[in-house]
Amino acid sequence: MGSVTIDYTDKSISKMSKHKYFFSYSQLSTFKSCRELYKIVYINGIRKNHESIEAFMGNCVHATFEWLYQKENLLKPYLTFDSICQKYDDIWVKLWHDTIFIADTRLGVDYYYSMGKRCLSNYYFKYGPTFDEHVMGTEIETQFELEEGIGFRGVIDRLDQPKPGKYYIHDYKTGKHPLTINSAKNNLQLVIYHISIMENYSDVVDITLNWHFLRQGIEVSVVHSNEEILMFRKKLRKQVMQIRELSEDLGNFYPKESILCNWCYYWDECSVKSGPNPVRRAK
Ligand code: SF4
Repeated sequence: MGSVTIDYTDKSISKMSKHKYFFSYSQLSTFKSCRELYKIVYINGIRKNHESIEAFMGNCVHATFEWLYQKENLLKPYLTFDSICQKYDDIWVKLWHDTIFIADTRLGVDYYYSMGKRCLSNYYFKYGPTFDEHVMGTEIETQFELEEGIGFRGVIDRLDQPKPGKYYIHDYKTGKHPLTINSAKNNLQLVIYHISIMENYSDVVDITLNWHFLRQGIEVSVVHSNEEILMFRKKLRKQVMQIRELSEDLGNFYPKESILCNWCYYWDECSVKSGPNPVRRAK
């Protein structure tokens, strides 16, 4: 089960310079999973550093890949798996904090630490030791204007450009459940990145969306036609309009209890919970 994901760098609801409002995939997805959580985070602006061990492990793996594709590493003829593991360990220790929680009572910190290693190992087996992808950048902050007054933004894990006009958008996932090809085709997260690249680079010929499901060592790739992108733009607009209309009456932001509540750290603020989430703190 995935955790409730909040993008803490996201100031989506705040007024920005050019656009009136910015939205993000994480915002749309929170709205869908629980409107009360949406209200707490994006309307009331309450942000906590609490995170699940799954999210923490995912962040450590992402940070390791960011290091792996730094310029000085790309200049090296190869990287050993040991050096990557060493970096992962350093990042794990450096980023560790005391508000990390484990929802599954059967599992300990070691399990998630090892799962992160498995993600790295699966990737290394496929792309190492040379890592000669045509990387333009990692953790790229991007945005675009959907229409007057409405912007979208996000952070692309990695962008490659194997030849002029051809782009690959990569997204690393460390969760339990890989997307099927059909769900990937309908996934809005990478569509938002796709539109950002189309809007921000003048030479785009085609864009491939690439998910790396690292635990399973599976990759899923999707290419969207211009017609599909047009349809997705309409879909994004519809979702944004719905949120904006409902925002006029905060009574619309009711709680939706589900298994995801176990990964939500806003129980104190939630109208249907009493006291903090009783989940175990990771040690
Ligand atoms: S505890 Fe559950 S119902 Fe309450 S805000 Fe969080 S996700 Fe929503």
